[in-house]
Amino acid sequence: MRFDCVITGGGLAGLIAGISLQKEGRSTAIVSTGQNAMHFFSGTFESVKEAPARLAEIFEAAGIKVHYSAGVRLMPMGTFREAELALGDVDIFPSERFASKALIVSFRGEQGFFTGFLADGLEKAGIACRLAAIDRSSGIKKIAAAVSGLLDGEDAVVLPQVFGQKDSADVEYLREAIPAKVVFAGTQPPSVPGIRTQMQLKDYYISLGGTFLQGDEVTGAHVHDGVVHSVVTRNLDSHYLEADCFVLASGGFFSKGLLATPTSVVEPVFGLDVDYPADRSEWYDPSFAADQPYMRFGVKTDVALHPMIAGESVRNLYVAGSILGATRPEFGTGAGLAIRSAFAVVDSILKP
Ligand SMILES: Cc1cc2nc3c(=O)[nH]c(=O)nc-3n(C[C@H](O)[C@H](O)[C@H](O)COP(=O)(O)OP(=O)(O)OC[C@H]3O[C@@H](n4cnc5c(N)ncnc54)[C@H](O)[C@@H]3O)c2cc1C
Repeated sequence: MRFDCVITGGGLAGLIAGISLQKEGRSTAIVSTGQNAMHFFSGTFESVKEAPARLAEIFEAAGIKVHYSAGVRLMPMGTFREAELALGDVDIFPSERFASKALIVSFRGEQGFFTGFLADGLEKAGIACRLAAIDRSSGIKKIAAAVSGLLDGEDAVVLPQVFGQKDSADVEYLREAIPAKVVFAGTQPPSVPGIRTQMQLKDYYISLGGTFLQGDEVTGAHVHDGVVHSVVTRNLDSHYLEADCFVLASGGFFSKGLLATPTSVVEPVFGLDVDYPADRSEWYDPSFAADQPYMRFGVKTDVALHPMIAGESVRNLYVAGSILGATRPEFGTGAGLAIRSAFAVVDSILKP
């Protein structure tokens, strides 16, 4: 099979690159194994301020609702964190005291919603709390009615962030139907809004004519004289995927885009050069809570985001997303790194 571009990895970076290339009339395929970081997404986009126009356009076309305001958001354990760009499910407040009284409602028999920690955190912020539990009845209307019936002077309700696997209609309904400010707080992973967002991006990519090879894995590549000719996948076996250009968006250690052996850190598909210290004692900080050095390791790239094999640039291969680690600080961190580097790769590919 031949495409204009074959992308390894269907997380945020791979999808943004694939969508942008399809919009420009390029034929692309994305090969992606299993889950990605979006499935654990908190709902706020790190190091992204207001969505740039080309990102806003993609989100709108994909049906993804986002909003921007600088402030703080409520975290799953009742703490607050600064946030700017967020999915519609996540509120950003000007200050931690977003209400005077809050009702925290969980579902009976369901684990992973940390009501005790949430209450402690809210009390510290000056918000009086009451806990309640309801049965997860068959429909969203019954949930809204049950929560509304429990209200006793509270001006806010905190619910688990578990609504809307396919779209955000249930989130919006609860906000309209319950006569108090409805705030959604994260639960144990996976993240329902994150899964939804990844599915919306994937569906939009497919609607643009993209080929999404879900559950397949790129296991190797044919590279000669600094040019990739094809990649090999586990399921397609000897039916190599050929293309004019290739994008590697296989994520960091979490997604196995990078692997650590006892003596080295490797990029397993192409064998690309990785930026990390040779001395293993510099890979990690023994203090568990410290900012860990290995999180900064990443594939080395040149100005056009071409990686290198033994110091030689691979001219038709581009790298985007968290596999870059902290090697390209100009692209930011977290979702910001994935989005900005994906757009930069697309611009490099489309450059005449
Ligand atoms: C658990 C977790 C939670 C996070 N939460 C947030 C958050 O809330 N906000 C934020 O801003 N940032 C968050 N981040 C940072 C996150 O890395 C970025 O936001 C971004 O989603 C990363 O996207 P990516 O496409 O670079 O990589 P990934 O999302 O990791 O996607 C890479 C994909 O490539 C696939 N893959 C790997 N190797 C192959 C192969 N050989 N063949 C085919 N497919 C392959 C993987 O299976 C995976 O699906 C989080 C990161 C992690 C690990």
